[in-house]
Amino acid sequence: MPWQTVFWPILTVYLNIEGIMRLLILGLVFFISCGQQSSINQRTEKMYEKMRVRMVEDQIERRGVRDEKVLVAMRKVPRHEFVPDHLKKYAYADEPLPIGEDQTISQPYIVAYMTEYLNLEVGHKVLEIGTGSGYQAAVLAEIIDTVYTIEIVDVLANRAKMTLERLGYENVLVKGGDGYKGWPEHAPFDAIIITAAPTKIPQPLLQQLKLGGHMILPLGDYSQELVLIEKEEKGYKQEKLLPVRFVPMTGEVAD
Ligand code: SAH
Repeated sequence: MPWQTVFWPILTVYLNIEGIMRLLILGLVFFISCGQQSSINQRTEKMYEKMRVRMVEDQIERRGVRDEKVLVAMRKVPRHEFVPDHLKKYAYADEPLPIGEDQTISQPYIVAYMTEYLNLEVGHKVLEIGTGSGYQAAVLAEIIDTVYTIEIVDVLANRAKMTLERLGYENVLVKGGDGYKGWPEHAPFDAIIITAAPTKIPQPLLQQLKLGGHMILPLGDYSQELVLIEKEEKGYKQEKLLPVRFVPMTGEVAD
């Protein structure tokens, strides 16, 4: 028998074994690194959860927000998922943060404060004007049935839609466009929240509010006041709550 007939099959088997071993080792390394990554992710999420609990205690409860539904929602919504990557470490700080396109996500306390004044009940339907990052909408979605939210900057509307979908908020409907005229197809709403400051109360929104329903908005230009409106049989009641600083409401209301 020529020596090649013996040598080649042995070499082939040897190379195959080496190939298989290599594959096995690669698989093992991949498996271990996946496991490590998921345990790093779990630890990071735990860390954010701790920061969130502390945020609610120090910034929100301590300043007087008492509605348990609001506190539970604020402890649950992962605010760090709504801010740009490089700002995640500040997501639970006591301040608003930039979200791109010259817009901001509101300070956590203001989100909780405004939400509490909406007097929400489980079955409610709420309209938000100024989706921004989608964070306020997510907080609302933890408490009520359906959130309708409108954002005038398309890039932000699309990004918020993706974030909310990724986090499983199926009860939030995001629409790109000017919120001035509201969302008549889904009116009337139990409550309305405007998170950009108009210089006058948008009348179409008032019309889409249920009788006895609450609307909260920052009103004014340079000096703004958070205003609470309660719709009555004839007209509405208006109460000034506190001075605030929001980005201006653009579009038709500003024309
Ligand atoms: N609620 C947001 C923050 C809002 S910042 C959050 O939780 O992240 C205010 C937002 O209102 C901005 O994104 C701005 O683009 C949007 N906005 C301004 N005027 C608007 C209008 N007429 N209709 C809809 N959105 C508007």
